Amino acid sequence: MTLPLDAGHLAATFESVFGASPDGVWQAPGRVNLIGEHTDYNDGFVLPFAIDRTARVAVRLRPDSTIRLLSTFGNQGLTTADAGSLSRGSARGWTRYPLGVLWALQQRGLQVGGLDLLLDSDVPRGAGLSSSHAIECAVITAFNELASAGLDARDMVLATQRAENDFVGAPTGIMDQSASLRGAAGHTLFLDCRDQGIKLVPFEAESAGLVTLVIDTRVSHSHAAGGYAARRASCERGAEVLGVKALRDVGLEDLDRAAGLLDPETFRRVRHVVTENSRVLRTVDLLESTGPPAIGPLLDASHVSMRDDFEISCPELDLAVEVSRSAGAIGARMTGGGFGGSAIALAPVAAAQQVRSAVEGAFAAARYTAPSIFSVRPAAGAMRLA
Ligand code: ADP
Ligand code: MG
Repeated sequence: MTLPLDAGHLAATFESVFGASPDGVWQAPGRVNLIGEHTDYNDGFVLPFAIDRTARVAVRLRPDSTIRLLSTFGNQGLTTADAGSLSRGSARGWTRYPLGVLWALQQRGLQVGGLDLLLDSDVPRGAGLSSSHAIECAVITAFNELASAGLDARDMVLATQRAENDFVGAPTGIMDQSASLRGAAGHTLFLDCRDQGIKLVPFEAESAGLVTLVIDTRVSHSHAAGGYAARRASCERGAEVLGVKALRDVGLEDLDRAAGLLDPETFRRVRHVVTENSRVLRTVDLLESTGPPAIGPLLDASHVSMRDDFEISCPELDLAVEVSRSAGAIGARMTGGGFGGSAIALAPVAAAQQVRSAVEGAFAAARYTAPSIFSVRPAAGAMRLA
């Protein structure tokens, strides 16, 4: 992983590429979801936190309608577009994320002219840490300020969702960008996806002697692909048969009745969502009453539910979780959309190295690609850097 450029270096690089200094530098973080998976599009509860890995953009508005985009990643060269002709399907690769945001702002009736933009990010790509939303949130935060667009956090959440859903074509919910835009250092973000209501919940793992490890299995996931869409369809079917607006409206006490009404597969999908919502609420209670050491069993139960009921895990994620637990983590689960990506393990600081080595050893023994393992902490949401 290359070191992130600080704001000064990013501005200097911007100037050497575009021939003028940027109007400013903004950053937005990736996120991990502590608990609450596939509950967001069911109007349910999630508990992500913004991480200390960020996308940073240096931006300068232009007087014309030309858009020039460059990323420090991957020698992809400069991409040029025109603000007057943004449309679905018109963009490729990573530029879909910034252009999608600008397109979504136009759809809201905002005037979007040209700009120059340089991106640098140390959020791992495609690992389930939402590197895509980090880009989108950095871009929208920059644009909102530079164009005095007057968007509040909820508006920006909906605009970035529109960008991902309708421009990029990834049917994602509102969790990732909410964490990136509204997260705070030392806290998880309890988010009610029905009304975007939030509560910041202290998550001081370190002061409790714990560390959150991310284990990137390097198995690539794709939200736009079949599995995610199929799970959403199952949830919608379940809600329809049960006569509720969304699975958020089904409680643990309704599961017996649901079992009699749904086919076995749809029932298991529904049971995951219903029990996961309840686990999020219990996690919030425990974090507020007792602190991080109490939540391990809920993380474990969440993983089992995703593995067996929602069926979105994979052998690499299961191995990462099992080995983390037996090497001393107090709880572990896959995080993100599933079918690959990352697991998180909450481990005593003293056991962290042991967990790393054990997982690396188990992956090598299974002849899996070596995982990337690193610690994350709850960090600030999107902000201006310079
Ligand atoms: P995730 O959001 O879980 O990381 P996605 O597939 O949604 O996975 O987004 C990953 C995509 O984001 C990459 O394929 C790439 O297009 C884009 N991306 C992320 N970081 C960068 C970067 N530093 N430079 C260019 N593109 C990036
Ligand atoms: Mg993404």
